[in-house]
Amino acid sequence: MRLKFLSRSENEVFARNAVAAFALPLNPSLAEISDVKTAVSEAVTNCIVHGYAKGEGWIEIACKTEDGCLFVEIADEGRGIENVEEALTPFYTTLAEEERSGMGFTIMQTFMDGFSVHSVPGGGTVVKMSKKFGAQAESDAR
Ligand code: ATP
Ligand code: MG
Repeated sequence: MRLKFLSRSENEVFARNAVAAFALPLNPSLAEISDVKTAVSEAVTNCIVHGYAKGEGWIEIACKTEDGCLFVEIADEGRGIENVEEALTPFYTTLAEEERSGMGFTIMQTFMDGFSVHSVPGGGTVVKMSKKFGAQAESDAR
């Protein structure tokens, strides 16, 4: 599945629900769907507020499912990140004046199973995430 939409804040609700709907055939639990929505919401919000800052540009989401696992890629062609390792540090934010807490990447890593960031300063950012559904049910059964 591929989606392309403009970096307007009202599109964030559309994006997170589109990914959640795409994942439904994998029979996720409500908690798992909620985790996916939260992670997608954080990634898309980052594209809007950091990637394109005050400007506007395209955000692309690509999704696939494989072996009960959801794979999501969220990409912008915005300003990119100079130091990804630093950006991944909990509470690190370049927008403290707008009361950002610097927890978006930490939330994505906590709520999803797979997570990576690739960024080119001036060229854009791609966040790749995956989540295996049914993992909780399996661990409950053990
Ligand atoms: P919060 O997510 O808690 O509101 P935040 O967005 O600053 O705060 P993170 O989501 O963890 O925190 O992102 C950390 C930093 O990484 C951001 O402050 C920003 O500098 C940079 N960043 C994240 N995503 C992007 C992006 N798509 N394009 C450019 N910079 C980004
Ligand atoms: Mg953020």
